[in-house]
Amino acid sequence: RLYNEVIELKGNIRVFCRCRPLNQVEIASATSSVVDIDSSRETELQLVCSDSSKKQFKFDHVFGPGDNQEAVFTQTSPVVTSVLDGFNVCIFAYGQTGTGKTFTMEGTPGNRGVNYRTLEELFQISKERSSTMKYELFVSMLEVYNEKIRDLLTETSTQPLKKLEIKQAAEGTQEIPGLVEECVCSTDEVWELLKTGSRNRAVGSTNANELSSRSHCLFRVTVRGENLVNGQRTRSHLWLVDLAGSERVGRIEVDGERLKESQFINKSLSALGDVISALASKTPHIPYRNSKLTHLLQSSLAESGIEHGPARKQADPTEHFKFKQMAEKLKHDE
Ligand code: ADP
Ligand code: MG
Repeated sequence: RLYNEVIELKGNIRVFCRCRPLNQVEIASATSSVVDIDSSRETELQLVCSDSSKKQFKFDHVFGPGDNQEAVFTQTSPVVTSVLDGFNVCIFAYGQTGTGKTFTMEGTPGNRGVNYRTLEELFQISKERSSTMKYELFVSMLEVYNEKIRDLLTETSTQPLKKLEIKQAAEGTQEIPGLVEECVCSTDEVWELLKTGSRNRAVGSTNANELSSRSHCLFRVTVRGENLVNGQRTRSHLWLVDLAGSERVGRIEVDGERLKESQFINKSLSALGDVISALASKTPHIPYRNSKLTHLLQSSLAESGIEHGPARKQADPTEHFKFKQMAEKLKHDE
């Protein structure tokens, strides 16, 4: 659904697809990949159906199992660095649990992901511009779990994470009173904060990975810029979001708690889809407030420059599919 809405739009929106390599379990069980990627056609992906027929999908770019973190970041960096020019930006990693969202956004010490690389790039560009621009960078990290917002940079991991609320500020922007905002000057500081955030994300759960799949993790970079020539000041946000797993959980499979979580996830992911379609159809009322996720991201989504794209609208109907259908297909073929 999200893909379906987004791909029909033009403007400052990009949709990338990343297919991770088969893991040890899949290799051991001789599982074959359900995707067929022709590396010479970087925007196309073929999904191999159970009857061996193929379905074709188009993206702005498709990354295959051989594409590393650097390759992914190279495509992403023009979008994220626009925060230095005063734009509000956001990136989402969307997909089922186990598809590589956290690997893509967070990464590992030897294989750093989009979050760390973004800050590295922002520091680099600020240095290059230092004769004309003065920048200050702040980072925050929070999670949305069962429609509750929690601060992941709360100092001690023994205390419960601080609960936060969104406050509507005067000029249509949102403030999150009490949210920890750390001023950062180096990538080392950023890495330490990312580690603290990830550790805190796991609090209260015996299985960190399990819990993290059920919450949305939002990493926010605030940029304060000052033009040293004309004195103009800007303040903009970049949100880097690792969404909760998009899989549907059947009623029979789960206990009450798990079902409640899954209903909150479904509700917020569909609220995100609703906001994107409302922006696309230029509806006067955009339902940002239907979920904490969309309310938090309101100013970044509002500035995404979405417009109708007549060229895309005429696109081959095989391009038009729903994420949900693809996810179900992948699950089925697994
Ligand atoms: P998700 O956050 O979507 O649930 P993860 O990022 O935790 O998924 O990925 C699941 C596993 O697959 C992890 O062990 C991760 O290290 C590995 N993985 C994911 N993507 C890749 C990739 N592109 N290359 C190598 N390993 C990957
Ligand atoms: Mg994850």
